[in-house]
Amino acid sequence: MGDYCIGVDLGGTNLRIAAVDSDSKLLEKLTLGAEVSRGRDFVITEMCKAIESLRTKYQSSGALLGIGIGVPGFIDMVAGMVMDSPNLPDWKSYPVRDEIERRLSTKVILENDANSAAMGEKWLGAGRQFEHMAMYTLGTGVGGGLIFNGSLWHGMTGMAGELGHFNVYADGHPCGCGSRGCLEQYASATAVVRMAREAIARGESTELEKLSHDEGQFTSRSIYNLAVQGEPAAKKVFENVGRALGIGVGSMVNALNLPIYVIGGGVSSAWDAFAPAMFEEMKFRSSIYALTSPDRVGHEKGTIVTRAMLGSDAGLYGAARLPMLLGFSQTETGRQ
Ligand SMILES: [Zn+2]
Repeated sequence: MGDYCIGVDLGGTNLRIAAVDSDSKLLEKLTLGAEVSRGRDFVITEMCKAIESLRTKYQSSGALLGIGIGVPGFIDMVAGMVMDSPNLPDWKSYPVRDEIERRLSTKVILENDANSAAMGEKWLGAGRQFEHMAMYTLGTGVGGGLIFNGSLWHGMTGMAGELGHFNVYADGHPCGCGSRGCLEQYASATAVVRMAREAIARGESTELEKLSHDEGQFTSRSIYNLAVQGEPAAKKVFENVGRALGIGVGSMVNALNLPIYVIGGGVSSAWDAFAPAMFEEMKFRSSIYALTSPDRVGHEKGTIVTRAMLGSDAGLYGAARLPMLLGFSQTETGRQ
C-alpha cells in the first residue's frame, strides 16, 4: 500500500472511522458507538484515540496524508466549525478542526456529511465517470451535495448544497430549519412515517393503522413493505416522496443541467416505489429534463437520475478522499 487517509463519519448513532489508501483500498474500518449524548469532548477524545490506533498500525506502510471528518450540520469551512447542527448541539461555534489538528498534528478537513457522501459516490460510486453531479441523501433528514469539475461546491462559506431545504411546497409542512414545505419534509424517512400517520388520521388505511400499533415497527421500511404488497395508502405515501423529489430534482435540472443526479440514503432503497412518480414529475416540472431524458435521447447523452451505489459507506469513503484531493492540489501548486 501507499500513502493513506483516514475518513470519519459521525452519525447520530455511530462513529465510523476508516483508513483508505490512495488507490481506494479499504485498509480498515472501525465502528464505535457515537454516544453523542456524552458530549463533544468525549466524542472527540474517542475519535482521536481510534485515529491514533490506526496511525500506529499503518505507520510503517505509508504516510497519513490527512483526516476528513463528515458531520451533520452547517459547516463553516473557513473557520473549521460546525455553525449549527440539531444532532450535535454542543459542537456549535467550537473550533473542531483546529482542536483535532492540535491533538493529532495532522491536516484535518471538516465537511458536511452529505457533501462527504457526494464525494464518495463521485470517487467510487454512481458518479465516478462524471465530473459534475448532484447528490441527495434521503435519511432521517435530506442532505445534498454538489460536485463541479470534480470538486465539492462549497459556496461562500461551505454551506452550499443544502438540497433538502429546497422548497417544494410553498406553504407545506413546517421544517426544522424554520421554513415550510422543504423537500426534507416529504422525502426523508421521518417524512414517510409522518405522511403515513396523516393517512391514518384521515382514515385511509386500516393496514397502516395496524402497523402503527407497534411503535418500534412503524418505520419507513415497514411502510415501504406494505407499499410493495400493493397497499394503496402506503403506495400513495411513496408517490408523494417521488412527486416532491421530482419537483426538487427537476428544479435542479433547470438550474444546473448536470449530467447526473444521484439519490442515496436509506429511503433510496424504496426506489421502485417512488421513482415512477419522480420521473413523471420531473418531465412536468423541467422541460430541460423532458428534452434530455434517457428514454428520449439515449442513456449515453441523457440526464441520468439514479440510485447511489455505496450505501452507508459513501460518506466514509468521501471523507477519506478529501485530504487526498487537497494533497493533489498542493502538489500541482508546488509544480507551477
Ligand atoms: Zn427546511
